[in-house]
Amino acid sequence: MPVTISVKTDARIDMVDITRLVQKEISDARLQEGICVVYVPHTTAGITINEGADPDVCRDIIKKLSELVPYDRSYRHLEGNADSHIKASIIGSSVTVIIKNGQLLLGTWQKIFFCEFDGPRSRRVYVKVKE
Ligand code: ZN
Repeated sequence: MPVTISVKTDARIDMVDITRLVQKEISDARLQEGICVVYVPHTTAGITINEGADPDVCRDIIKKLSELVPYDRSYRHLEGNADSHIKASIIGSSVTVIIKNGQLLLGTWQKIFFCEFDGPRSRRVYVKVKE
């Protein structure tokens, strides 16, 4: 069974660093070598890996996504959040990371981000680790 991580977002569009929460699941599973799948079961949220050292990188990603896919009423989707669905598809709904020596094998500046596109709200992220 996958583990569920709860994420609470504070804005309509938000990126939340969940690296430590994912790493905790690997540590709890006592897995030394393997892979970790991080999956978002929502249609207006996504998951990505990018730079975590400079918060302006996330701000730039959010700004550019909002320019490319603006929040307005020009879409057909009646719910009014078509931009959220489009942003979620651009970002994608999962990442896979290699586990080495019990740690996520990320680059020096890389973090795993939950991406909210229709918040604020409470969300779920599934984590599955496998040898
Ligand atoms: Zn919708």
